[in-house]
Amino acid sequence: MRRVTLVGDDIKRLPVEHPAQWMKVFLPAPPGRKPEGRAYTIRRYEATAGLMEMDFVLHGDNGPASAWAEKAKVGDVLQLAGPRAGYRVDPAASRHLMVGDATSLPAIAAILEALPPGVTADAFIEVNGTDEEQKLETAASLNVTWLHSGSEPPGTTGQLELAVQGAVLDLSDCQVWVAGESFMVRAVRTYLTVDRLLPSGRLHAAGYWKMGDADHRDRD
Ligand SMILES: Cc1cc2nc3c(=O)[nH]c(=O)nc-3n(C[C@H](O)[C@H](O)[C@H](O)COP(=O)(O)OP(=O)(O)OC[C@H]3O[C@@H](n4cnc5c(N)ncnc54)[C@H](O)[C@@H]3O)c2cc1C
Repeated sequence: MRRVTLVGDDIKRLPVEHPAQWMKVFLPAPPGRKPEGRAYTIRRYEATAGLMEMDFVLHGDNGPASAWAEKAKVGDVLQLAGPRAGYRVDPAASRHLMVGDATSLPAIAAILEALPPGVTADAFIEVNGTDEEQKLETAASLNVTWLHSGSEPPGTTGQLELAVQGAVLDLSDCQVWVAGESFMVRAVRTYLTVDRLLPSGRLHAAGYWKMGDADHRDRD
């Protein structure tokens, strides 16, 4: 994961109001080619400074965004479009459950920062190893389970699915966020809605990427 700080006057005027809002980031392209766009979460936003931070998972040079982030240096220029919709924290929910891989860690961290005191939050997050764990700030009472994928891409090992299924989770009055690799998201969503009868209105589930697919996105 590499954190990139973006600055610009136009950034001062963006309507960033909710955690997990995201931007379409257009990567510089060779002359004559259209820039390719990829979705990245606004990890932190400071309107007055015209600044935003994004955390890029480095998964190699097989995608334009990861390849760009690996080599990014001060002074590089990106085009951005957005921001797009984020996550509305339900003030009536007393419990929050968050499940995700490294691509959704920026969103999970931002959502946790937006939770009010007096609620509980359970987070299940898969990253490559302890070096990739992050300090999470929240006013909620947080119970976080870090999972490690080793040399496999986080979100593809099946560990998140097993951890959620094996946990004792009270889903009454619970708002749930699941995002990351598409197959993982589907499996967790099916478990929660079919086996645990979580009403779909309490669940936000989004495939942020899919093994083998460029620029994949699914959402419901
Ligand atoms: C709303 C939204 C918000 C997102 N926020 C973030 C964010 O904050 N940080 C972040 O890192 N990602 C985030 N993502 C995921 C990111 O957009 C995808 O991972 C994207 O495919 C990366 O583009 P790329 O150019 O690196 O690779 P692509 O050109 O899209 O894909 C090339 C190859 O790399 C594989 N690949 C793509 N992503 C990964 C990965 N994470 N690990 C392993 N292999 C991969 C693909 O399966 C494909 O085979 C978000 C996605 C969405 C929809």
